[in-house]
Amino acid sequence: MRCARRDRTLYPDRVHVYAIGLRTRFRRITVREGMLIEGPAGWGEFSPFWDYDPVESAAWWRATREITEQGLPEPVRDRVPVNVTVPAVGPEQAARIVRDSGGCRTAKVKVAEPGQTAAEEADRLAAVREAIGPQGAIRVDANGGWDVDTAVDRITVLDRAAGGLEYVEQPVASVPDLARVRRAVRVPIAADESIRRAEDPFAVVRAQAADIVVLKVQPIGGVRACLDLAERIGLPVVVSSAIETSVGLAAGVALAAALPELPYACGLATAQLLTADVTGHPLLPVDGALDVAAARGLRPDPDRLAATAADPETTARWTARLDAVRAVAG
Ligand SMILES: [Mg+2]
Repeated sequence: MRCARRDRTLYPDRVHVYAIGLRTRFRRITVREGMLIEGPAGWGEFSPFWDYDPVESAAWWRATREITEQGLPEPVRDRVPVNVTVPAVGPEQAARIVRDSGGCRTAKVKVAEPGQTAAEEADRLAAVREAIGPQGAIRVDANGGWDVDTAVDRITVLDRAAGGLEYVEQPVASVPDLARVRRAVRVPIAADESIRRAEDPFAVVRAQAADIVVLKVQPIGGVRACLDLAERIGLPVVVSSAIETSVGLAAGVALAAALPELPYACGLATAQLLTADVTGHPLLPVDGALDVAAARGLRPDPDRLAATAADPETTARWTARLDAVRAVAG
């Protein structure tokens, strides 16, 4: 039986709450916050967004525990190709982000930003195509922000503007709507929120609603949980981050490195979106890929932990939050 008292103390001297600015507003936030925890098997990140309640955050906590207590599965590859992520910015900035991406040959462009027009999105896509070149791959992510008719219209427009889209991630919110969009367009459909925030991730498969699934370690509940889910879903997997520090990204790299097949670039180059990191060797792409050995050996630096430490009020909020999640997760 597990010792409840040891559980509750949770290595209290090895818990760090960070607050790091984002270069561009993302998911309506400008500062990323979370906890880094060192356990017997290594460092893990616990950083559910604040719109996740304790029940939904329990999966994030299972992922943290897996890494801190069990460690990571063995890799089957030594490099993980990654995409550059382009937020809902203007064309010049979008092109600059692609050019400064460390050689990424795939770009993921955010679309369906409230208040932006189809023309603004098309301009962004055209600028990304110009910057990444004719051989590059471009995908878009709408975060479920369109209805079916808008999705079908926009995908057609954006596919043209981009000179061909690799796929569209979560164009609409519901699984039946995803299936409708998939039947109406020829661009492949990737499911993200429909997997990680769903009661039943297999609904996507039954409805034939997606060609690709996006898996994220923390929301799914760990690297092994993702490997198991990938096997049972049987569709190609793209591993993405939850905009974490390099500690959290390392778990994503471990998943991408352990998957039997990895046909697409992964969304793990997001250290670029943060204004600071907890290590002097952040997981940034070189020649368009992340190095698996570097990710496995990653440890936070004490001086960077100090520089990124959250203020006492934020630290207290996270400590209370973790208590609430652990009360649910057991
Ligand atoms: Mg997404």
